[in-house]
Amino acid sequence: MIPPGKTIGILGGGQLGRMLGQAAQTMGYRVQVFEPVGPCPAGAVANREVNANYDDLEALKAFARECAVVTYEFENIPSGPLDAIAPLVPLHPRAEVLHVTQNRQREKAWLRMNGFPHVRYAEALDGDLAAVIGQVGRPCVVKTADFGYDGKGQMKIVSDADLEKAAAIFRGRRCVLERWVDFSCELSVIVARSSAGETKAFPVAENIHTRHILDFSIVPARVSAAALREAEQLAVAIAEKLGVVGLLAVEMFLAANGEVLVNELAPRPHNSGHWSLDGCETSQFEQHVRAVCGLPLGPVGVREPTVMVNILGDAWRWQDGRVVGEPNWLAVLSEPRAKLHLYGKAEPRPGRKMGHFTVRDRNLETALTRAKELQAQL
Ligand code: AMP
Repeated sequence: MIPPGKTIGILGGGQLGRMLGQAAQTMGYRVQVFEPVGPCPAGAVANREVNANYDDLEALKAFARECAVVTYEFENIPSGPLDAIAPLVPLHPRAEVLHVTQNRQREKAWLRMNGFPHVRYAEALDGDLAAVIGQVGRPCVVKTADFGYDGKGQMKIVSDADLEKAAAIFRGRRCVLERWVDFSCELSVIVARSSAGETKAFPVAENIHTRHILDFSIVPARVSAAALREAEQLAVAIAEKLGVVGLLAVEMFLAANGEVLVNELAPRPHNSGHWSLDGCETSQFEQHVRAVCGLPLGPVGVREPTVMVNILGDAWRWQDGRVVGEPNWLAVLSEPRAKLHLYGKAEPRPGRKMGHFTVRDRNLETALTRAKELQAQL
């Protein structure tokens, strides 16, 4: 067990690292953040921020030597640097977990090999999509194997013209082609597994994406008890099979025929778990700290039905590509059932996650209606 007072190192300095650091400090830990370019949102609330590239192994090792445990808040960390620090300090989740989950080809091959239900897919090398599209059928979506998030590096293919266009865009890149799923809704489950082997799953979230970016998370998810059970059991089984220590977020599609299919895995706190800061007995960030430090996991009961709404840079007032006004914060701040969370990012950009707010109510539909009104007023 790593007790409060010790130092937790976080690789990555975005909003996930920021909220993780805040939770760790609340529990009495010291926090240091490693991020190539500063100042960063997590560094602003950490005891120390180190700015160096991930391939600067000396800087990384010096950082690791000052920590009792190191964790990370995003997946796109090269595996070489992680191998360099692993002998110096416990790294959670371990580097192999990151290796599998940071690449869509490896992740899908892992799901297939271990018999977890996933979307039908094919691997495509060098943008040669025409050669494999027959294996998945149309419509389908092409996704780059690396460095894709929030719909970046993705394109839906329906027509021959789409296929030609996609082949040109994805030339020279490793990709996966995935069958387009006619889903009735998207779900996610965040599972915590501690270094002592204890496992707990947060309640299932129902997620609504707009233009491939998470817009709303709704808890409890409005799906059948059977679907809830299936989603939760699947996520726990995956976390155990992967041997994750920390959090694992499992994003899933609930298909129109009732099947639950895994879409993506992320071994870290996840946007669809932000509701837990206000709506759950333990937040996902506190739970991650507990898991990587070998503390008992906290309870995960829903305090009250909760809706989380992302605030993107689009919410600012824009004119000719320039920001001319702030969102209407007063709308959210004047609502007693709402909580505003901003990430301290200086520059809003369209599609950039700047913050989120939650709305709680005894009645979930009331919370959702109010959340939509506040989003419109923002
Ligand atoms: P991803 O980056 O894979 O999580 O994709 C972002 C979002 O795009 C998902 O949450 C879905 O809303 C949508 N999407 C991705 N893949 C598919 C698919 N195979 N079928 C239908 N929608 C998809």
